Amino acid sequence: MSLYDLEIDKVIKKIKNLKAQTVGLQFPDGLKMHAVHVAAQLEKETDAKIIISADPCFGACDPSDKQMEGMVDLLVHYGHSELSLNYSVPILFIRAYSQIELNKSLDEALPMLQNYDKVALATTTQHLHLLDEIKTFLESHGKEVIIGSAPGISAGQVLGCNFSSIKNIDAPVFLYVGSGNFHPLGIKLFTDKPVVIADPYQGQARDIEKFADRILRIRFARITSSKKAKKWGILISSKKGQYRLNLAQKLKTLLEEKGKEAYLLLVDNISPDLLLPFLDLDAFVVTACPRIAIDDSQLYKKPLLTPKELEIVLEEREWYDYQLDEILIV
Ligand code: SF4
Repeated sequence: MSLYDLEIDKVIKKIKNLKAQTVGLQFPDGLKMHAVHVAAQLEKETDAKIIISADPCFGACDPSDKQMEGMVDLLVHYGHSELSLNYSVPILFIRAYSQIELNKSLDEALPMLQNYDKVALATTTQHLHLLDEIKTFLESHGKEVIIGSAPGISAGQVLGCNFSSIKNIDAPVFLYVGSGNFHPLGIKLFTDKPVVIADPYQGQARDIEKFADRILRIRFARITSSKKAKKWGILISSKKGQYRLNLAQKLKTLLEEKGKEAYLLLVDNISPDLLLPFLDLDAFVVTACPRIAIDDSQLYKKPLLTPKELEIVLEEREWYDYQLDEILIV
């Protein structure tokens, strides 16, 4: 059995209902290994021809509808929840719910929550269907459980760049269910509260404290080293859900008011190689995915900052008021 519910029957039904002749498939990198298997099944069960997007995809902010416009009658986007964006072709979002066993990771998380009567839950698209089960488990161990909500996203859901569902939650600790450090780091930086990770893929629990502390130290170093930067590149993303031209223009004005030079750069996939030729620029601020500067910073030779970090450099914000940059398209 696959670790994820790929909902092939639902996709087949949609293709047949639409009488789609050509269908695009898009997967985040973590699910791409299923792409050929899904394509083969769809071509066997329908008359549609399948085109798989092989480009990287990091979120629902990056649908390949524009690239596939005029080419496909339907795009099936796996692994993310729909955002409030205008799409160029009909899109079917398949959340790819995880089918993995949770018990071991929850059992391990329990002692780490022993000092707390109240726990807030957060997770990503893949585990949203398990939140009620996790809540029942925690309640059976005497915890009060809070699942936050916000317009446009599911209860308890966090994105790497959007934590509105957990904003102002009155709980002393968060339990994040899922893999990796990416989302729990975001929760930690957003709330400054303890975050326990129940990782069902590893069958274990851990906290994010040391990792978050290391990242914050790196951020402090990058902000400090950027203070002497005179010429700035402001990166604007051409990706639909990351496009923030207005913010980029405001940052350019702010930098110029502070006596700096600032240049707008439009880019699709930001990468270290892409920035190498800009020898004249001393530092970059990213208006695209906020997590590029935070999570990939060590890959870049020159400082890469978020807009809120730039405010600290320009003395418009204090370090103690460090905040995550968010993209609030939901
Ligand atoms: S902008 Fe970044 S963090 Fe937000 S959904 Fe896209 S890839 Fe994820």
